[in-house]
Amino acid sequence: MPFGSKASGAARKLCAVSVDLDEIPCYTAIHGLSLPLSEAAQQAVYRRALPRLAALFDAHGVRATLFAIGHDLEHAHASAALRELAAQGHEIGNHSYSHRYDLTRMREHEMRAEVARGIEAIERAVGLRPRGFRAPGYTFTDTLSRVLQELEVGYDSSVFPCPAYYAPKLLAIGAYRMLARPTRSIADHPRVLTAPGDPYRMGESYTRRGRGLLELPIGVTRDATGRLPFIGTSLTLAGRTGAGVLCRLIEGRELINLELHGIDAADAEEDELTSLRDAQPDLRKSAATKLDILSATLERLSRAGYRFVTLAEAADAFG
Ligand SMILES: [Zn+2]
Repeated sequence: MPFGSKASGAARKLCAVSVDLDEIPCYTAIHGLSLPLSEAAQQAVYRRALPRLAALFDAHGVRATLFAIGHDLEHAHASAALRELAAQGHEIGNHSYSHRYDLTRMREHEMRAEVARGIEAIERAVGLRPRGFRAPGYTFTDTLSRVLQELEVGYDSSVFPCPAYYAPKLLAIGAYRMLARPTRSIADHPRVLTAPGDPYRMGESYTRRGRGLLELPIGVTRDATGRLPFIGTSLTLAGRTGAGVLCRLIEGRELINLELHGIDAADAEEDELTSLRDAQPDLRKSAATKLDILSATLERLSRAGYRFVTLAEAADAFG
């Protein structure tokens, strides 16, 4: 048992890297765009970005947690890629069946079906039942927490208690409404900002500590530093120096839960995604530049004494 009981006084230093495998049509939906994208472009996350990320993880000895959307696994190229990565030791998690951004507004039985069908699709594709769940768009509710527990999900990793993410998201949704662009994005309840930034068991409200489902919140810098977002997009947009500063501000947390998206390793030119670049600022940086920043980040966290684990292993350590 590599983690065991916590040695007295010694803080755990674990880093879990996860990737949400939202395929390109998720991004056109969130920006309310209908773009004429080639089939290759529409499959760029699984076909182009995922192999680049797998190489990055290999170089740093990282076994990651890959959150897959169930319906993508009906495509043979996607399920084959995940089977291969699972065989290499990466964990596969459930990112729901069809990535409905309004999952938390659906009726409870529909919500349950979305989660359950995601589990079944992964079992079919990979041969293993996923332990973890990540909600589309980080949006969470007490009803979803209950549904996950009924389905015996081992842990959740969706809560993102980050003011710097929350406020701009509200602004973006408002702006899209004014432009009459039908974004699929919805905002969480503001109480999410009061949720713990470290692993906890959910209580009566999912934002409070209790004895329910284990939550591994998405990475934010230490509370005293304003809980800045420590995710792929913020690191790659911050650049190498900015990413180094964010590392310094998160170091000290017992678990660094670094969440990436497949698109973080996409390249507008090479992957035929130039038409999405205006709406998706991270596509203005090349895949090579973004991977270089992520590589420097992993290197730095490793040097700071963090050990890479999957989220399931983090759940064992903190559960
Ligand atoms: Zn997603």
